[in-house]
Amino acid sequence: MKKIDLVKVKELYEIRKLTAKEIAKKYGCSITTILHRMKAAGIRVRSNAEAHAGGKSGENNGNYKHGNCVKDKKFYCIDCKILLKATRYRNDGKNRCLKCAGIYRSKKYTGSGIYNHTLERRKIIGLKSSAKFTPEFKERFRKTCERNGIWVPLDQLEPYEIYFREAEWIESMFKYATETELAFVNSKPRPKFARDHKYSRYSGFINNVPPILLRHPVNCQFITRAENTRKALSNKCSKDSITLQELITAIQEFKREWPEQGECMKIINQREDLLLIKGGDL
Ligand SMILES: [Zn+2]
Repeated sequence: MKKIDLVKVKELYEIRKLTAKEIAKKYGCSITTILHRMKAAGIRVRSNAEAHAGGKSGENNGNYKHGNCVKDKKFYCIDCKILLKATRYRNDGKNRCLKCAGIYRSKKYTGSGIYNHTLERRKIIGLKSSAKFTPEFKERFRKTCERNGIWVPLDQLEPYEIYFREAEWIESMFKYATETELAFVNSKPRPKFARDHKYSRYSGFINNVPPILLRHPVNCQFITRAENTRKALSNKCSKDSITLQELITAIQEFKREWPEQGECMKIINQREDLLLIKGGDL
């Protein structure tokens, strides 16, 4: 770290209008350090509005030097030497046009570029990687996943698949989406979303909950697909957004039209044991 000269900092900040971040970079220290020094030296920190007023082009640009700044500087592709329209920092910070970047990348991964492994070498790498998946390793992996509630045990897989299908939505469910969910689903560009069971099918299966309860509209929520994947890979407890008790209460309080409402109520009244199932600790 260079010695921080406060007079110089004052000049950089107030006259050359560099940002604290840019000054920190020059001195090789953190922004916090610079801000502390500035405060000690009585330099007033610009507000956000001031910082963005007037733009930072030409002489206002902190990197302005000899009648030039980064914006005016010309960049050429380092491979084919054509003039680049925009500054492109591609591949290890080198400027390349799109075409040359593509060629460079393909070379990098086919053994004639940076990763210069011979054919035999690559064969060995491949073999050693796949050798990891021994029967013992797979067995151990399955056990761990079963124990953590991520995978359904092998001998229960078939009944689970039937249950899984039975608990699937019987309608599109858009009718029952909340306003926020509809806004999310209809936003542009069209997001990747999924209809998720608040009380998960995994928990429903393990606890022997009739699938008809799980496909009730109160159990449906629209979430992003990424979130859905995250949920699927998480352990049992966090798979559920609500407890079974909350689900049952919500069904009982449901006032809108639903073809299976009567049937659901009948099951809830018959199966008192459902209320005794302990929900995951949420
Ligand atoms: Zn090029």
